[in-house]
Amino acid sequence: DDPHARARELQERREVSLAEVQEHYYAAPPQIERGWREHLLATDGRAYLDMVNNVAVLGHGHPGFADAVATQLRRFNSNSRFHYRAVVEFAEKLTATLPAPLDQVFLVNSGSEAVDLALRIAMAATGRRDVWAVGEAYHGWTYASDAVSTSIADNPNALDSRPDWVHVLDTPNPYRGKHRDGDAAAYAPEAVTRIDALAAAGTLPAGFVAEPVYGNAGGMALPEGYLAAVYGAIRRHGGLAIADEVQVGYGRLGHWFWGFEQQGVVPDVVAVAKAMGNGHPLGAVITSAAVAERYRTQGYFFSSAGGSPVSSVVGTAVLDAIRTERLQENAREVGDHLHARLRALGEKHEVIGAVHGFGLYCGVELVTDRTTRAPATALTGRLCDRLLELGVVMQPTGDGQNILKVKPPLVLTRESADFFVDALDHALTTGV
Ligand code: PMP
Repeated sequence: DDPHARARELQERREVSLAEVQEHYYAAPPQIERGWREHLLATDGRAYLDMVNNVAVLGHGHPGFADAVATQLRRFNSNSRFHYRAVVEFAEKLTATLPAPLDQVFLVNSGSEAVDLALRIAMAATGRRDVWAVGEAYHGWTYASDAVSTSIADNPNALDSRPDWVHVLDTPNPYRGKHRDGDAAAYAPEAVTRIDALAAAGTLPAGFVAEPVYGNAGGMALPEGYLAAVYGAIRRHGGLAIADEVQVGYGRLGHWFWGFEQQGVVPDVVAVAKAMGNGHPLGAVITSAAVAERYRTQGYFFSSAGGSPVSSVVGTAVLDAIRTERLQENAREVGDHLHARLRALGEKHEVIGAVHGFGLYCGVELVTDRTTRAPATALTGRLCDRLLELGVVMQPTGDGQNILKVKPPLVLTRESADFFVDALDHALTTGV
């Protein structure tokens, strides 16, 4: 009765029945039995610190959350067409987190659906179909959300297989894009010039979509003023500004609830998911009444399980727990500590080129050379494997797959943050 043999046997069964293109973490992953807060317990009895989980924001196995969902399942669940208290209460709580005029909610089931709907809303509201996106972005797997996904890590053909309605701005990456550090201010005027030129040639934008903090590129800040400039240009031509908050929104950044606050802008359409459901499939699009009303040109909107009674209770339970358990504050306090420790580690290990991000979203970017910033891709992969041996679940992100994506549940304690940094230090000191 060897738990490792059973885990391998389960892995073999997985390979038989699940299409192989759905990769999962690690070549020989531990079989997870259950989770608790930021910890995972495997069937062989080992515990792991979960430093990548941007879905289970309340922490694994949250009792209050589980009770709220179980109670609602016994009481009533159905599609979202019924007149029911939970859906109204959730929509009110959600819009209360957003500035005016963002007060109209559409409920769906995932981030891909939310981005897809946001794009359709922009197309419906403007009567146009051309959309601007940025490079090195991931927005989802549905037809429209995939069309604006430009990251070559997720799809090596991304840059030459976009549909003709997608226009891609240069990757505004201030660490390794074409303009670096102090020169990163050049991205915004260049983007505006391209948007203006396409408009002058007769192609007016339906909208522009981007993560307000560059999650897929390692959780880094966009250049200061970038969104203000690009949103301004898009709006001058009558298009809508769409913020993909699926990964960076909902308190993870600690200092702000929404990523767009970091850039000092207010979008026209917000897409959110992941954290919002704490692992339950839940996503939303929030926009203004004027924009939402224009969707009528497409008929009506309906999603069977989007905004179901259970999904609405989930949404309310998550927002309530974030507030009563001070999880955004925890993300700020533990996050600031984590960033300080990671930056100190960067002074010790040459391979750490930069530490990006805010709160409990950090990107530790690994390079083979600090001057050229050549990505340490192979080392990053080996480091993630070594961290697993040391008891930490970690994965790479970015087009170079050379950035550790540090985005743990928002209940992360200072001790767990230290455990992660110490494991990273140990792995880098002893070599991988
Ligand atoms: N947008 C962003 C920024 C994401 O990170 C993701 C998921 N990785 C999505 C959209 C798609 O969300 P989902 O997987 O829930 O469809």
